[in-house]
Amino acid sequence: MALSGRTLEPIREWAAGIAPLGLDSLAPCALDPTDLIQRGDFSQGDPSVRYHILFVGAHPDDIELGAFFLATQEVVPKSFIVFSHGEVGAARAKDARRVRVEDVWTRVEEAIDSATKLGARKTIVASLPDTKLFKHKDAMVSILRDFRSNLVNGYDHKDVELVVVTHGPFDLHSDHFAVYEAVRAAARPNTPVLHMVIQASAPSAAEELARKTDTAYFIEGDQTKITKIRDHLSNCFPTQVARGTIDLDKVCRDLGTAAVCRQFFLLSSDVPPLPTEFMDLLNIGTRSETT
Ligand SMILES: [Zn+2]
Repeated sequence: MALSGRTLEPIREWAAGIAPLGLDSLAPCALDPTDLIQRGDFSQGDPSVRYHILFVGAHPDDIELGAFFLATQEVVPKSFIVFSHGEVGAARAKDARRVRVEDVWTRVEEAIDSATKLGARKTIVASLPDTKLFKHKDAMVSILRDFRSNLVNGYDHKDVELVVVTHGPFDLHSDHFAVYEAVRAAARPNTPVLHMVIQASAPSAAEELARKTDTAYFIEGDQTKITKIRDHLSNCFPTQVARGTIDLDKVCRDLGTAAVCRQFFLLSSDVPPLPTEFMDLLNIGTRSETT
């Protein structure tokens, strides 16, 4: 997908500026973190559904890998926030200490393309530095709070209820953990926050993690959904698939088999449970149903 427009130019200039200098020049962030790439409009929201799902990821493709079964549903309006361009991953994948402009830029384009194809009403890609998100929690909290105000103002009805899907407290990646902390700091006490299980290496690991928490939710999958995620990832993240940073076989294997296929989400005990109405809308199951 080709992107153009005035708001994108600073990114291009920034990437062009740091590219000859190598990876180390990425920190501190050379670009204004408040310079957000934004697509879409809240006013497209369906007024008959009072929920809105906000997916929040540290890097391009985190949401797709961790929450595809939820992100692909079409019943509840959704938006995406991605906090970094994933520029370090792009550089590492090339086995080079240099960041190529095209690689950084492609990851941004892929993130927006994917969110658009998944039907996101609003997509925001921030320019916070990959691997250094823990230094930018205030900026993330501010972006999240602005999102909420704009969402409420953009809806015709004012009682829109947000459900946030993001990384979890168990996630060992420092960027993922920083995003989790920012979401918890920004979320209102009555906002349910579901955590994606990206790190699990197999369905049994996801089940094991689910057993350790008070509440685990899941969405049942099948072969059609597995085929759908494979097609989506190869269409929307071709460079990541080509580099092997997205392993399609592994992603599909991790989701399970045609007979047992579930994508898990965890909920801490100190946040509100998912509203029953929301669960019914999306056919979300709970752990108790698995035992
Ligand atoms: Zn990530």
